[in-house]
Amino acid sequence: MPGPYQGSCLCNAIRFEVDEFEPQTGSCHCSMCRKFHGAAFATLAEARRANFRWIAGEELLKGYTADNGTTRSFCSNCGSSLMFASPNADPDLVEISLGCFDDEVPVRPDAHIYVASGAKWAHPEDNLPQYEAGRDSARLK
Ligand SMILES: [Zn+2]
Ligand SMILES: [Zn+2]
Repeated sequence: MPGPYQGSCLCNAIRFEVDEFEPQTGSCHCSMCRKFHGAAFATLAEARRANFRWIAGEELLKGYTADNGTTRSFCSNCGSSLMFASPNADPDLVEISLGCFDDEVPVRPDAHIYVASGAKWAHPEDNLPQYEAGRDSARLK
């Protein structure tokens, strides 16, 4: 399954590709990710900035910065949730919604994060490690 791996938003106006993924792919259950995705959690893959590029539609991207400084970017035409950025993260990395890839990808989620603020109806039942908040917080399972 060699790269690059292509992804797009729902209306297909924004397209991007990743040459290679970084190892960590977490599912975030925090209330901001839940609301941004309209789902139980957001699964975000990571790539080095040099291994990520926009192919089309970058001008349609719109960002929302929450009170805690995190920015989530989406397609202003169809609303697809595409990117996550934290001011505390390594600036050399980008975080991309795994659900927006069209190609098969060689990464799998490896942890649940912010489980303590997750929806009770969506408590994870798989065998992946669970963290109270970020990966440096208390491990719940
Ligand atoms: Zn779109
Ligand atoms: Zn989150």
